[in-house]
Amino acid sequence: MEENFFVTLPMMESWFGKIMKKAAVFLDRDGVINEDHAFVHKIEDFVYIDGVKEALKIIKSKGYLSILVTNQAGIAYGYYTEEDYRILTDWMQNDLKTDSIEFDGIYFCPHHPEKGYPPYLMKCGCRKPETGMLIKAVEDFDIDLSSSFMVGDRMSDVETGVRAGCRGSFLVSTGKPLPPFTGNQPDFVRKNLLEVAMELPVTS
Ligand SMILES: [Mg+2]
Ligand SMILES: [Zn+2]
Repeated sequence: MEENFFVTLPMMESWFGKIMKKAAVFLDRDGVINEDHAFVHKIEDFVYIDGVKEALKIIKSKGYLSILVTNQAGIAYGYYTEEDYRILTDWMQNDLKTDSIEFDGIYFCPHHPEKGYPPYLMKCGCRKPETGMLIKAVEDFDIDLSSSFMVGDRMSDVETGVRAGCRGSFLVSTGKPLPPFTGNQPDFVRKNLLEVAMELPVTS
């Protein structure tokens, strides 16, 4: 009988660790949050996709961290600078803050493996479908990947979610033709982020 009450410290720690970890929704930016006009880097070109603010509200209310993970190879290509990217990002985050729906974390990859200029011309571990940005967020926020989701509009986003070990990956069409399904398949295909947010399970 007595051994039933015997719980080792490592067991307790792993149990508490599990329940205290947070779930996240990892969000691609262009084509998920804003309309993808290719290499968006100016405030005047940044247009929210319909329902995005409502979606971010729902994601938060269901208990998820919202983490932006965006490839910004335009920086490597020399189309715009890191400073341009930061100005736009600060504007977006401040705008979302007025509705208390700012991202909990924002990660970007300025690199490209084949095209562009130093120091950004490199094979890095953060450009999706590599998982570097998600792994960094996991460390920064103590995220449980097995209860987290990835949302993107490209198969490289889906691939990132699968590789990282997310619970599920959503591909959103956001009005554009869907890309060919190569490699790992999305778990769900939905019209936009709002549809995704409404379907997400409430975190325990
Ligand atoms: Mg995208
Ligand atoms: Zn990178």
